[in-house]
Amino acid sequence: MKCYYAKETEAHDPQFRLTNGALMRNAEQAERATLLIEGLNQLGLYTEEPPEAPRACLEAVHTPQLLAFLESAWEEWQKLPGAGAEVVPNAFAQKSWATYPDSIVGRAGWHLGDTSAPIGPHSWTATRRAADCAVAAADAVLDGERAAYALTRPPGHHSDAETCAGHCLMNVSAIAAERLRNKHDRVAILDIDVHHGNGTQWIFYDREDVLFISVHTDPHRYYPFFAGHAHETGRGAGEGFNVNLPLPPTTGDDNWCATISDALAGIRAFDPGALVISLGLDAHENDPLKGMKVTFDGFRQAGALIAAADLPTVLVQEGGYLSPDLTTSLASFLGGFLGRDARA
Ligand SMILES: [Zn+2]
Repeated sequence: MKCYYAKETEAHDPQFRLTNGALMRNAEQAERATLLIEGLNQLGLYTEEPPEAPRACLEAVHTPQLLAFLESAWEEWQKLPGAGAEVVPNAFAQKSWATYPDSIVGRAGWHLGDTSAPIGPHSWTATRRAADCAVAAADAVLDGERAAYALTRPPGHHSDAETCAGHCLMNVSAIAAERLRNKHDRVAILDIDVHHGNGTQWIFYDREDVLFISVHTDPHRYYPFFAGHAHETGRGAGEGFNVNLPLPPTTGDDNWCATISDALAGIRAFDPGALVISLGLDAHENDPLKGMKVTFDGFRQAGALIAAADLPTVLVQEGGYLSPDLTTSLASFLGGFLGRDARA
Protein backbone atom coordinates (compact mmCIF):
# COMPACT_ATOMS: atom_id res chain seq x y z
CA MET A 1 0.00 0.00 0.00
CA LYS A 2 1.32 3.42 -0.96
CA CYS A 3 1.78 5.81 1.97
CA TYR A 4 2.44 9.52 1.60
CA TYR A 5 4.15 11.86 4.03
CA ALA A 6 5.83 15.23 3.54
CA LYS A 7 8.68 15.97 5.90
CA GLU A 8 8.12 19.73 5.69
CA THR A 9 4.98 19.26 7.78
CA GLU A 10 7.21 18.66 10.84
CA ALA A 11 8.07 22.35 10.96
CA HIS A 12 4.42 23.09 11.85
CA ASP A 13 4.72 23.14 15.64
CA PRO A 14 1.64 24.79 17.18
CA GLN A 15 2.01 25.85 20.80
CA PHE A 16 -1.17 27.65 21.90
CA ARG A 17 -4.24 25.88 23.24
CA LEU A 18 -6.85 26.81 25.81
CA THR A 19 -8.57 24.08 27.79
CA ASN A 20 -11.21 25.12 30.31
CA GLY A 21 -9.57 28.54 30.48
CA ALA A 22 -6.11 27.13 31.17
CA LEU A 23 -3.25 27.71 28.74
CA MET A 24 -1.87 24.34 27.59
CA ARG A 25 0.67 23.02 25.10
CA ASN A 26 -1.13 22.29 21.84
CA ALA A 27 -1.76 18.56 21.35
CA GLU A 28 -1.05 18.51 17.60
CA GLN A 29 2.70 17.98 17.88
CA ALA A 30 5.18 16.91 15.21
CA GLU A 31 6.22 13.87 17.24
CA ARG A 32 2.85 12.36 16.29
CA ALA A 33 4.19 11.76 12.79
CA THR A 34 7.28 9.98 14.13
CA LEU A 35 5.08 7.59 16.11
CA LEU A 36 2.73 7.01 13.17
CA ILE A 37 5.62 6.30 10.78
CA GLU A 38 6.89 3.72 13.27
CA GLY A 39 3.45 2.07 13.08
CA LEU A 40 3.70 1.93 9.27
CA ASN A 41 7.22 0.51 9.42
CA GLN A 42 6.07 -2.28 11.76
CA LEU A 43 3.87 -3.47 8.89
CA GLY A 44 6.64 -3.14 6.32
CA LEU A 45 5.10 0.07 4.96
CA TYR A 46 7.24 3.09 4.04
CA THR A 47 6.28 6.62 3.07
CA GLU A 48 7.05 8.53 -0.07
CA GLU A 49 6.97 12.28 -0.66
CA PRO A 50 3.93 13.43 -2.66
CA PRO A 51 4.20 15.70 -5.70
CA GLU A 52 2.66 19.16 -5.42
CA ALA A 53 -1.08 18.95 -6.08
CA PRO A 54 -2.76 21.42 -8.44
CA ARG A 55 -4.10 24.46 -6.56
CA ALA A 56 -7.51 23.62 -8.03
CA CYS A 57 -7.65 20.70 -5.57
CA LEU A 58 -7.58 23.16 -2.65
CA GLU A 59 -10.00 25.53 -4.37
CA ALA A 60 -12.48 22.67 -4.86
CA VAL A 61 -13.02 22.69 -1.08
CA HIS A 62 -11.92 26.06 0.36
CA THR A 63 -12.82 29.67 -0.40
CA PRO A 64 -10.23 31.99 -1.98
CA GLN A 65 -10.47 34.14 1.18
CA LEU A 66 -9.44 31.26 3.45
CA LEU A 67 -6.57 30.17 1.20
CA ALA A 68 -5.26 33.75 0.99
CA PHE A 69 -5.56 34.09 4.77
CA LEU A 70 -3.71 30.84 5.51
CA GLU A 71 -0.97 31.72 3.08
CA SER A 72 -0.16 35.16 4.50
CA ALA A 73 -1.65 35.38 8.02
CA TRP A 74 1.53 34.70 9.97
CA GLU A 75 3.59 37.33 8.10
CA GLU A 76 0.83 39.94 8.50
CA TRP A 77 0.39 39.05 12.17
CA GLN A 78 4.06 39.67 12.91
CA LYS A 79 3.62 43.30 11.82
CA LEU A 80 1.04 43.95 14.57
CA PRO A 81 2.37 45.92 17.54
CA GLY A 82 3.22 43.49 20.33
CA ALA A 83 2.22 40.46 18.24
CA GLY A 84 2.43 37.02 19.82
CA ALA A 85 4.38 34.24 18.13
CA GLU A 86 1.27 32.64 16.60
CA VAL A 87 -1.98 33.80 15.02
CA VAL A 88 -4.62 33.23 17.70
CA PRO A 89 -7.91 35.14 17.42
CA ASN A 90 -9.06 37.46 20.20
CA ALA A 91 -12.42 38.18 18.55
CA PHE A 92 -14.76 35.78 16.78
CA ALA A 93 -17.14 36.51 13.88
CA GLN A 94 -20.83 35.86 14.47
CA LYS A 95 -21.26 35.03 10.81
CA SER A 96 -25.04 35.30 10.59
CA TRP A 97 -24.67 39.09 10.68
CA ALA A 98 -20.98 39.75 10.19
CA THR A 99 -19.15 41.69 7.45
CA TYR A 100 -15.80 40.40 6.21
CA PRO A 101 -13.08 42.67 7.66
CA ASP A 102 -9.74 43.91 6.26
CA SER A 103 -7.74 43.72 9.49
CA ILE A 104 -5.63 40.64 10.10
CA VAL A 105 -7.02 40.53 13.65
CA GLY A 106 -10.56 40.53 12.26
CA ARG A 107 -9.76 37.98 9.60
CA ALA A 108 -8.22 35.70 12.23
CA GLY A 109 -11.56 35.81 14.06
CA TRP A 110 -13.37 35.05 10.80
CA HIS A 111 -11.27 32.12 9.62
CA LEU A 112 -10.32 30.53 12.96
CA GLY A 113 -13.33 29.09 14.74
CA ASP A 114 -11.55 28.52 18.04
CA THR A 115 -8.11 28.98 19.59
CA SER A 116 -6.78 25.47 19.01
CA ALA A 117 -5.56 25.92 15.43
CA PRO A 118 -2.89 28.62 15.87
CA ILE A 119 -0.95 29.59 12.75
CA GLY A 120 2.84 29.73 12.98
CA PRO A 121 5.56 30.47 10.40
CA HIS A 122 5.43 27.01 8.83
CA SER A 123 1.70 26.28 9.03
CA TRP A 124 0.84 27.19 5.45
CA THR A 125 3.60 24.97 4.07
CA ALA A 126 2.49 22.14 6.34
CA THR A 127 -1.20 22.27 5.43
CA ARG A 128 -0.29 22.67 1.72
CA ARG A 129 1.95 19.59 1.88
CA ALA A 130 -0.67 17.66 3.89
CA ALA A 131 -3.14 18.41 1.08
CA ASP A 132 -0.53 17.15 -1.40
CA CYS A 133 -0.40 13.85 0.56
CA ALA A 134 -4.20 13.51 0.44
CA VAL A 135 -4.31 14.19 -3.31
CA ALA A 136 -1.43 11.79 -3.98
CA ALA A 137 -3.23 9.04 -2.05
CA ALA A 138 -6.45 9.74 -3.99
CA ASP A 139 -4.52 9.66 -7.27
CA ALA A 140 -2.91 6.33 -6.36
CA VAL A 141 -6.39 4.87 -5.84
CA LEU A 142 -7.66 6.46 -9.07
CA ASP A 143 -4.70 4.80 -10.81
CA GLY A 144 -5.84 1.39 -9.62
CA GLU A 145 -4.38 0.85 -6.13
CA ARG A 146 -6.87 -0.82 -3.80
CA ALA A 147 -5.98 1.62 -1.02
CA ALA A 148 -3.51 4.35 -0.07
CA TYR A 149 -2.70 6.16 3.17
CA ALA A 150 -1.95 9.86 3.69
CA LEU A 151 -0.08 10.81 6.87
CA THR A 152 -1.53 14.30 7.08
CA ARG A 153 -0.41 16.87 9.63
CA PRO A 154 -2.14 19.13 10.49
CA PRO A 155 -5.41 17.18 10.28
CA GLY A 156 -8.50 18.60 8.58
CA HIS A 157 -11.93 17.32 9.54
CA HIS A 158 -12.90 20.25 11.82
CA SER A 159 -12.30 22.78 9.03
CA ASP A 160 -15.08 23.80 6.65
CA ALA A 161 -14.88 25.81 3.44
CA GLU A 162 -13.64 28.94 5.17
CA THR A 163 -13.17 28.28 8.88
CA CYS A 164 -10.40 26.28 10.56
CA ALA A 165 -10.61 24.88 14.09
CA GLY A 166 -9.72 21.98 16.35
CA HIS A 167 -6.01 21.61 15.39
CA CYS A 168 -7.09 21.48 11.71
CA LEU A 169 -6.21 23.77 8.81
CA MET A 170 -7.23 22.64 5.29
CA ASN A 171 -9.76 19.79 5.22
CA VAL A 172 -7.58 17.05 3.76
CA SER A 173 -10.29 14.36 3.78
CA ALA A 174 -12.64 16.63 1.82
CA ILE A 175 -9.84 17.44 -0.63
CA ALA A 176 -9.28 13.69 -1.18
CA ALA A 177 -13.03 13.14 -1.64
CA GLU A 178 -13.29 15.92 -4.23
CA ARG A 179 -10.31 14.46 -6.09
CA LEU A 180 -12.06 11.07 -6.20
CA ARG A 181 -15.25 12.76 -7.43
CA ASN A 182 -13.41 13.69 -10.63
CA LYS A 183 -13.80 10.06 -11.66
CA HIS A 184 -16.57 8.63 -9.45
CA ASP A 185 -20.19 9.84 -9.44
CA ARG A 186 -20.58 9.03 -5.75
CA VAL A 187 -17.98 9.07 -2.98
CA ALA A 188 -18.50 8.15 0.69
CA ILE A 189 -16.58 9.48 3.67
CA LEU A 190 -16.54 7.49 6.90
CA ASP A 191 -15.09 9.46 9.83
CA ILE A 192 -14.03 7.29 12.77
CA ASP A 193 -12.09 9.95 14.69
CA VAL A 194 -13.40 10.24 18.25
CA HIS A 195 -14.49 13.81 17.46
CA HIS A 196 -17.29 14.58 15.02
CA GLY A 197 -16.03 15.74 11.62
CA ASN A 198 -18.03 18.96 11.68
CA GLY A 199 -16.01 20.68 8.95
CA THR A 200 -16.49 17.81 6.52
CA GLN A 201 -20.19 17.69 7.39
CA TRP A 202 -20.75 21.33 6.48
CA ILE A 203 -18.68 21.13 3.27
CA PHE A 204 -20.93 18.39 1.87
CA TYR A 205 -24.17 19.15 3.78
CA ASP A 206 -26.19 20.17 0.72
CA ARG A 207 -24.91 17.42 -1.56
CA GLU A 208 -26.21 14.03 -2.62
CA ASP A 209 -23.02 12.91 -4.38
CA VAL A 210 -20.91 12.68 -1.21
CA LEU A 211 -22.27 10.61 1.67
CA PHE A 212 -20.76 11.60 5.04
CA ILE A 213 -21.07 9.26 8.02
CA SER A 214 -19.37 10.03 11.34
CA VAL A 215 -18.96 7.72 14.36
CA HIS A 216 -17.90 9.82 17.37
CA THR A 217 -18.38 10.71 21.01
CA ASP A 218 -21.68 12.46 21.72
CA PRO A 219 -20.97 16.18 21.26
CA HIS A 220 -23.43 17.30 23.95
CA ARG A 221 -20.46 17.11 26.34
CA TYR A 222 -17.47 16.82 24.00
CA TYR A 223 -15.75 18.77 21.23
CA PRO A 224 -16.96 20.06 18.73
CA PHE A 225 -20.14 20.61 20.85
CA PHE A 226 -22.16 22.51 18.20
CA ALA A 227 -22.42 19.75 15.57
CA GLY A 228 -22.44 16.00 15.32
CA HIS A 229 -25.94 15.38 16.61
CA ALA A 230 -28.13 12.66 15.13
CA HIS A 231 -30.76 15.12 13.93
CA GLU A 232 -28.29 16.72 11.46
CA THR A 233 -29.19 14.73 8.34
CA GLY A 234 -28.32 17.02 5.42
CA ARG A 235 -30.22 19.81 3.68
CA GLY A 236 -31.98 20.24 0.35
CA ALA A 237 -30.59 17.76 -2.17
CA GLY A 238 -28.25 16.57 0.59
CA GLU A 239 -31.08 15.49 2.90
CA GLY A 240 -30.38 11.93 4.02
CA PHE A 241 -26.74 12.00 2.92
CA ASN A 242 -25.31 13.13 6.27
CA VAL A 243 -25.41 10.55 9.05
CA ASN A 244 -24.19 11.15 12.59
CA LEU A 245 -23.80 8.18 14.94
CA PRO A 246 -22.90 9.67 18.35
CA LEU A 247 -21.85 7.25 21.09
CA PRO A 248 -21.34 7.60 24.85
CA PRO A 249 -17.82 8.19 26.20
CA THR A 250 -17.93 4.74 27.81
CA THR A 251 -17.93 3.12 24.35
CA GLY A 252 -15.54 0.18 23.96
CA ASP A 253 -14.70 -2.18 21.12
CA ASP A 254 -18.03 -3.99 20.77
CA ASN A 255 -20.30 -0.98 20.44
CA TRP A 256 -17.77 1.00 18.39
CA CYS A 257 -17.28 -1.82 15.86
CA ALA A 258 -21.02 -2.58 15.70
CA THR A 259 -21.66 1.10 14.92
CA ILE A 260 -18.95 1.10 12.24
CA SER A 261 -20.68 -1.98 10.76
CA ASP A 262 -23.95 -0.03 10.67
CA ALA A 263 -22.17 2.84 8.94
CA LEU A 264 -20.68 0.46 6.35
CA ALA A 265 -24.14 -0.96 5.64
CA GLY A 266 -25.27 2.58 4.83
CA ILE A 267 -22.24 3.04 2.60
CA ARG A 268 -22.94 -0.20 0.72
CA ALA A 269 -26.53 0.96 0.10
CA PHE A 270 -25.18 4.25 -1.30
CA ASP A 271 -22.96 2.24 -3.71
CA PRO A 272 -20.07 4.72 -3.97
CA GLY A 273 -17.21 4.38 -6.43
CA ALA A 274 -14.66 5.08 -3.70
CA LEU A 275 -14.36 5.55 0.06
CA VAL A 276 -12.42 8.04 2.18
CA ILE A 277 -11.71 7.10 5.78
CA SER A 278 -11.10 10.03 8.13
CA LEU A 279 -8.78 7.93 10.23
CA GLY A 280 -8.59 9.39 13.71
CA LEU A 281 -6.99 7.14 16.29
CA ASP A 282 -8.08 9.17 19.31
CA ALA A 283 -10.89 6.77 20.23
CA HIS A 284 -8.15 4.69 21.92
CA GLU A 285 -8.59 4.24 25.68
CA ASN A 286 -5.19 5.83 26.40
CA ASP A 287 -5.45 8.79 24.05
CA PRO A 288 -4.87 11.99 26.06
CA LEU A 289 -8.15 13.50 24.81
CA LYS A 290 -10.09 10.73 26.61
CA GLY A 291 -13.11 10.39 24.34
CA MET A 292 -13.77 6.61 24.28
CA LYS A 293 -12.35 3.28 25.43
CA VAL A 294 -11.41 1.50 22.21
CA THR A 295 -8.44 -0.94 22.38
CA PHE A 296 -5.92 -2.16 19.82
CA ASP A 297 -8.21 -5.11 19.11
CA GLY A 298 -11.06 -2.70 18.34
CA PHE A 299 -8.86 -0.86 15.82
CA ARG A 300 -7.87 -4.17 14.24
CA GLN A 301 -11.52 -5.21 13.91
CA ALA A 302 -12.47 -1.81 12.47
CA GLY A 303 -9.70 -2.11 9.86
CA ALA A 304 -10.94 -5.55 8.84
CA LEU A 305 -14.57 -4.38 8.64
CA ILE A 306 -13.63 -1.45 6.40
CA ALA A 307 -11.47 -3.68 4.18
CA ALA A 308 -14.43 -6.07 3.79
CA ALA A 309 -16.45 -3.22 2.22
CA ASP A 310 -14.14 -3.91 -0.75
CA LEU A 311 -14.06 -0.36 -2.08
CA PRO A 312 -11.13 1.67 -3.43
CA THR A 313 -10.15 3.39 -0.19
CA VAL A 314 -8.16 6.48 0.72
CA LEU A 315 -7.10 6.52 4.38
CA VAL A 316 -6.50 10.06 5.62
CA GLN A 317 -4.92 10.58 9.05
CA GLU A 318 -6.96 12.84 11.34
CA GLY A 319 -6.48 12.88 15.14
CA GLY A 320 -4.73 10.59 17.56
CA TYR A 321 -2.46 12.33 20.03
CA LEU A 322 0.75 11.70 21.88
CA SER A 323 0.75 8.54 23.92
CA PRO A 324 2.99 5.46 23.87
CA ASP A 325 0.07 3.64 22.22
CA LEU A 326 -0.27 5.78 19.09
CA THR A 327 2.16 3.62 17.09
CA THR A 328 0.34 0.39 17.91
CA SER A 329 -3.07 1.98 17.31
CA LEU A 330 -2.13 2.70 13.69
CA ALA A 331 -0.38 -0.67 13.23
CA SER A 332 -3.46 -2.43 14.65
CA PHE A 333 -5.91 -0.64 12.36
CA LEU A 334 -3.78 -1.09 9.24
CA GLY A 335 -2.93 -4.67 10.23
CA GLY A 336 -6.65 -5.42 10.32
CA PHE A 337 -7.23 -3.52 7.08
CA LEU A 338 -4.42 -5.29 5.21
CA GLY A 339 -4.84 -8.69 6.92
CA ARG A 340 -1.24 -8.50 8.08
CA ASP A 341 0.51 -8.81 11.44
CA ALA A 342 2.84 -6.15 12.72
CA ARG A 343 6.48 -7.06 13.18
CA ALA A 344 7.02 -6.20 16.83
ZN1 LIG B 1 -10.09 13.86 17.04
